[in-house]
Amino acid sequence: MQIHNYRKSNYFLLFMLLVVVASCSKDDAPEELPPNLAASLTQETIASTVSEGGFVVFNYNLTKILSEDLPLTVDIDTRSLNLPVDDDDYKFEFQFKGDFETTWRTSTTPNIFFPKGNISMKIRIQIVDDKIIEVDESFLFSIDLGESNINFDIMGAAQLEPIMVTILNDDGLNLIRPGSPGEIANYSVDENYNFAPIRVNSSFASYSEKALFDKLMKEGVPEEIKADLKKVFDSAEGDVTLKEFTVLADSNLMMGGFVAHTSDNLKDWQMGLNISFAYPNLSDLDPSSKTLTEDVEKAFSNYNDGAFGYIMIHEFGHIVSLNYLEVIPRNDMGELNEECTAEIVEGCLREGSVAFGFEAIEEASSNFPINVSTYASTNFSEDIAETFAWAVIQDDIPMVSVDGTSSVALQKMNFINKYPHYVKRNYRGLRDKINADFTKIIDPFIGPINSPVFNYNPESGEYISCVRKRSNVQ
Ligand SMILES: [Zn+2]
Repeated sequence: MQIHNYRKSNYFLLFMLLVVVASCSKDDAPEELPPNLAASLTQETIASTVSEGGFVVFNYNLTKILSEDLPLTVDIDTRSLNLPVDDDDYKFEFQFKGDFETTWRTSTTPNIFFPKGNISMKIRIQIVDDKIIEVDESFLFSIDLGESNINFDIMGAAQLEPIMVTILNDDGLNLIRPGSPGEIANYSVDENYNFAPIRVNSSFASYSEKALFDKLMKEGVPEEIKADLKKVFDSAEGDVTLKEFTVLADSNLMMGGFVAHTSDNLKDWQMGLNISFAYPNLSDLDPSSKTLTEDVEKAFSNYNDGAFGYIMIHEFGHIVSLNYLEVIPRNDMGELNEECTAEIVEGCLREGSVAFGFEAIEEASSNFPINVSTYASTNFSEDIAETFAWAVIQDDIPMVSVDGTSSVALQKMNFINKYPHYVKRNYRGLRDKINADFTKIIDPFIGPINSPVFNYNPESGEYISCVRKRSNVQ
């Protein structure tokens, strides 16, 4: 009995050893596996979302373990998407390992392999964690067996759909919300002309918009624009201050800019400007271009070629005609403290303001044209801003004729040119200070305008100089 038992124990021990040997050979000597070069390949998902700083992981499965490493080529496609990831937003490095492995391999080329002896594998890519506000960007990830796999018989690989990876922006989330139409961002401006974003609008759909957005988020408001804004507002010597600046960027937007007061005292102002007019090549961006980032960079090198300077002066014209020198501000309750004969949104127009001066000219004369431009006829506020802009940027402002035959438009220009508040601050001197060019102004009716300004007479269908006497008009 004892001997029999002893033998039984021995057989049992021997069996255990065989099991250990078999499992060792599986881990350490896969070449001992029977050759198997045929299987079906599947992936676990067709879409994946990842945050900045994280890894995006792709899982692939085989129906059978292969006895050789299966070569694979990975591909990252950004060109067929509207909001593609930038090259510097992910690490061009592919980490991969089999399910039975603990260590990741790293490839800095698209060539990797499905490690032999594994039924599943993972591939992962690290997403860069930057501090730049971006849109949620995407890329398509796919694997390909390539031509080096003629020895294998892998089914299903050709049917694998590219995986859509979306990278969720995690920067400036508290700033992101819609603004005015065409708005990219709104900035606060401090006394040293530091611009800090206080609202960012990242809701757009095209690659060209994204390329422009990225440029502005990385580099902020272009220095040349800041410099011109500073010169314009410095000329007011504290009468008005730029507190907020809004970048609009939409060449299809029929708006060059806007202004709004940011405090009840009508000294602090917000100005918005459409920078498509500062960099005209922005409107020519081809969304299908393979070099859009470079195209945007090139467009930004061409500042001095649009109507931007004129628009900036026009908007400033609103501010200097709606500030506290011109308008009695409302009180904290939004009410006017005294009786008012000319109430506007900002408050009550002061006696002797530009608006009253314009009204007096129009009452005394009806010599055509009445306004320096078609747009100036929109309302009295636009009339003042337009006349101010033309009075600043024209090379020459002819005197009003003594016989009373000068156009109302010319009389208004002369009035503004001699208006005490404007003379005191030498606003006409702005034409020599700012860098943005005035000579590229495009009138929607007549194309490039050179001094003197022209107006369009819709009745006669002809263009009339605002400085021409009415008696000369045919
Ligand atoms: Zn305006």
